Amino acid sequence: MNIGILALQGAVSEHKSCMCNLGTDVIEVRKPNDLNGIHGLIMPGGESTTLRKLLKNSGLWVAIKEMDLPIMGTCAGAILLGKCDDETFTKMDIEINRNYYGRQKDSFEASITLENKNVFNGVFIRAPVITSVGEKATAIAWKGEEIVGCIEGKNMALTFHPELTSDLTFHKMWKDRLK
Ligand code: GLN
Repeated sequence: MNIGILALQGAVSEHKSCMCNLGTDVIEVRKPNDLNGIHGLIMPGGESTTLRKLLKNSGLWVAIKEMDLPIMGTCAGAILLGKCDDETFTKMDIEINRNYYGRQKDSFEASITLENKNVFNGVFIRAPVITSVGEKATAIAWKGEEIVGCIEGKNMALTFHPELTSDLTFHKMWKDRLK
């Protein structure tokens, strides 16, 4: 299985090692041609306004928008998958509040609960939150009452950074959907 990691900004190498540890081949995606032959794409965090600009300048915005490619988006990547006040890919039926927890200094770690009650250590960096989940999407992760992860078909949006921990739960959950 070939997984593309959008390599314009953010924790590219960390996502790369997560997927390598799960036994996939990994390709860094910087231009539309790099999308050929991949089975899924990871959009790392960073800053969604900058990421949008970089995606547009590289021609990847249009290519990704038009393709039906499974995507896992973390943090800024999750923002671009859902809907917010700014332009996004709108590939998932979720609404996102971009800077819900405040500024960079308000970044933190917190326990996340999964549906099966397992607990995951969540790293939140100037994180967004999912404020509403439409009919097509399903919440899969919570920090208290707040929804921090959703899945919709082969797309997954996480408001935190699973690539910054050694726990592969979410990467594996997404990969298992691509079969
Ligand atoms: N809140 C940031 C944004 O608006 C995302 C932060 C992150 O990806 N770590 O893009």
